[in-house]
Amino acid sequence: MKVMKTIIEKIDKNQIDEQIIEQAGDILQQGGLVAFPTETVYGLGANALDEEAAKKTYAAKGRPSDNPLIVHIADVGVLDLIVTHVPEKAQKIMEKFWPGPLTLIFNKNENVPLGTTGGLSTVAIRMPVHEIALALIRAGGGFISAPSANTSGRPSPTSAEHVAEDLDGKIDMIIDGGSVEIGVESTILDMTVDPPMILRPGAVTKEMLEEVIGEVAVDQTLLVDDAKEAPKAPGMKYRHYAPKAQLMIVEGETGEAVKAIKQIAYEQTRLGYKVGIIATNETIDSYTTGIIKSIGARSNENTIAKNLYKVLREFDEEEVSYIYSEAFDTEGIGYAIMNRLDKAAGHHTIQAGDITKLQKYRRILFVSNSDNCRGPMAAELLRNESLNKEYAIESRGMVVLFPEPANQKAEAIMRSQQMTLEKHVATQLEEADLDDDTLVLTFDEKRKWKIISDYENVKNVYTLNEYIDDERFVPSSHGQPLVVYGENFELMRELIKKLADKLNEEG
Ligand code: AMP
Ligand code: MG
Repeated sequence: MKVMKTIIEKIDKNQIDEQIIEQAGDILQQGGLVAFPTETVYGLGANALDEEAAKKTYAAKGRPSDNPLIVHIADVGVLDLIVTHVPEKAQKIMEKFWPGPLTLIFNKNENVPLGTTGGLSTVAIRMPVHEIALALIRAGGGFISAPSANTSGRPSPTSAEHVAEDLDGKIDMIIDGGSVEIGVESTILDMTVDPPMILRPGAVTKEMLEEVIGEVAVDQTLLVDDAKEAPKAPGMKYRHYAPKAQLMIVEGETGEAVKAIKQIAYEQTRLGYKVGIIATNETIDSYTTGIIKSIGARSNENTIAKNLYKVLREFDEEEVSYIYSEAFDTEGIGYAIMNRLDKAAGHHTIQAGDITKLQKYRRILFVSNSDNCRGPMAAELLRNESLNKEYAIESRGMVVLFPEPANQKAEAIMRSQQMTLEKHVATQLEEADLDDDTLVLTFDEKRKWKIISDYENVKNVYTLNEYIDDERFVPSSHGQPLVVYGENFELMRELIKKLADKLNEEG
């Protein structure tokens, strides 16, 4: 429900419009709410020293009020005004990582209201590096609480459009500074314990911190499904970052995960569900069924962090029922990515191998001599069958001298049955065609034995009739009149139907 008019202003971070910053600063000083860009995600700013402003923040976000806010500052010098003590290790860390995507927890002093810290005696503090954020923090009085500027429970906003989707009409102003750099929230490091403990992973990793201060602990509840203890950062207990659809992470070696996701997407789609797939630049072309989006490049996981929430929001708009995501390496920023994905999925993960073992073949290859008549015909007939599982259905020839089109009489018969081989091009069988996922079917014994003797380690080669346990061979129609092509087509159709039934029975 819109209850107020939200001002939306664009600012170029390389040429900051001071007037807009001043206006936004005034709003903050008067207890209002201003959303603004930081390098991590967009924040919902309010005066951190004003208890009433904190209340408004919780109300606008619909956030449980036991979930404390992070106080953003623009100068390290002001720290002493809000904390009781700055440990030596914290000094070192701040010198190295501030301004930047790292939040530190200190014991607060009486200047920070409990309304801002969710009732805790500690306070989380960050100094962002984003120029617009820094200018606004100064203009707003120097202490700006800023949780992510989304409705509680939705993916964090990485653009001003995302903020407007959630908060237009509920806050005073949105500063649009374009897309954020990092895309996942700051690392949170608790400096009130020794060794300091990571409560939320982010762009500043454990390894980076340990280089500066030695041992750093990690809250063990972060990546665990059935943790007995509550997480130490109160906000980490909520299933936030969540898309509307049920998200499932498919773990395992990437090639295996792709197979598993394809398999599930095909079957879920047949059941009538709208399915989303979170792919990567490297794997996107492997998928065929579902709404497929790349989240970035595996070769540069920073791109994945940056797109993560955007992709989850896009799937909300597509109104898919299920989203299946590949899993990512947990090195560097990858740990933060997997932490957020895992939370978005409500810890739903499956092992790719548990899915892929349920489907024996993924590819059916019909092999004839010249790949211009029986092979392509069988392949097209099978493609027209209703199959419970997804198969790549193709044909190859043992002796293909040039890439000719399908035989004309075969094409005429197919046309009379509302099918066509017009896209077919005869293709030579290669060793690489014969992997474990492929079922190879020939039309006679001779070709079967030739494949078995010509290639090494071929496992799944059968004649079509042997495979479906039927005595009838489909003979070559080569050089025969059209009626013979027609008769052979009818026989082929019967056998392919039996093949489809067998595949559907066996999986
Ligand atoms: P957000 O503002 O959406 O990035 O969320 C802030 C996160 O910081 C939440 O997970 C909070 O629980 C956590 N946080 C803020 N203050 C504290 C604190 N004093 N102690 C532990 N966690 C905190
Ligand atoms: Mg948040």
